[in-house]
Amino acid sequence: MQKRLSLPVFFPDATYAAIHSVPFHEVSNHLLTGLVVTTLHMEIIGMTELLQKNSVTYRNMAKLPENMTLLTDSGGFQILSLINKHKLGKITEEGAVFKLPDAPKKKHLLTPERSQEIQATIGSDIRVVLDVPLMGTEDYKTTKEAMERTTRWAKRAKDTFTRLVGKSATVKYDSQQLEYDSPLLCAVVQGGNDIALRKESAQQLASLGFDLFGFGGWPLDENGNFNTKIIETFVESLPSGSITYGMGIGTPDDIETGYKIGMTIFDCVLPTRNARHGSLFVTKGNGETAGRTYDLVRIGSQKYETDLTPVDKTCDCPTCKNYTRAYLRFLLKKKNPVGFTLASIHNVWWYLRFMTRLRS
Ligand SMILES: [Zn+2]
Repeated sequence: MQKRLSLPVFFPDATYAAIHSVPFHEVSNHLLTGLVVTTLHMEIIGMTELLQKNSVTYRNMAKLPENMTLLTDSGGFQILSLINKHKLGKITEEGAVFKLPDAPKKKHLLTPERSQEIQATIGSDIRVVLDVPLMGTEDYKTTKEAMERTTRWAKRAKDTFTRLVGKSATVKYDSQQLEYDSPLLCAVVQGGNDIALRKESAQQLASLGFDLFGFGGWPLDENGNFNTKIIETFVESLPSGSITYGMGIGTPDDIETGYKIGMTIFDCVLPTRNARHGSLFVTKGNGETAGRTYDLVRIGSQKYETDLTPVDKTCDCPTCKNYTRAYLRFLLKKKNPVGFTLASIHNVWWYLRFMTRLRS
């Protein structure tokens, strides 16, 4: 099916088969044009098994609109977390071998081929190759090896994708719009914060031929600032007109900077994660100074106890249209699930509105 996306676009993360605390229908109007679904979680929680049992795609199971773009990640980033945080895995040439924290006796293997098969079962529109992500603090040798393995894995993933899909996509793209027939295959550029390795990774992957290219790994420098230089290297090392995806990026400021450099697709858990901690994104002048492009309402603060205004008076989301800061603060203080839902709806909606402002 031919699909169209206005760019730049932000995809909320539906990590465990749903956007955290947000029912799709609450944001599933013209604002929500795409989602990221996490491949590894879908497999682990049994969603892919359920899809196979019902012989349906994830879109049909969740009754999502046909024109919505579903992007599945490869599972690489979650494995990085299992390896680094829990010491529950290792990378071999065959794939990622890992165990889960709640069942540490059972070993799992995720290969580039298997990752594509799971993504095909989910039925996503944009599928990502399994990569070897790093924290960005590794030495040169480790970074180079991971980058080279990422290229070898990308080739294996592409072979599987081609076998499963059996056609190449037609794509029309400029910085304002992407028109494509589903599915597309996305490679992941690695190389850490090393300029030469990033360049090499981008060039190796471009020569293999992919529909789009993701910026993999951490986009931050050693001081925790958005690494503009390495993002520029990523974009400039790809053939001109390449579609670029800022994986896991980021704050509204980082998205704006990334878009100015040339990236057009973004996703991040930040809106829902921050919402659960009572940190609400608002337009400049409507909260506490936070970033270049946004302020924050930290709703737990005492000063909101008697504040009967909406979270953001410029926001047209259901939360801001119907509820007050004082009420939302009370619900979140009491850990009422409705509070998490209302806060998350606002943050996701605010991000999606932010993207429409970037487009204009
Ligand atoms: Zn709102």
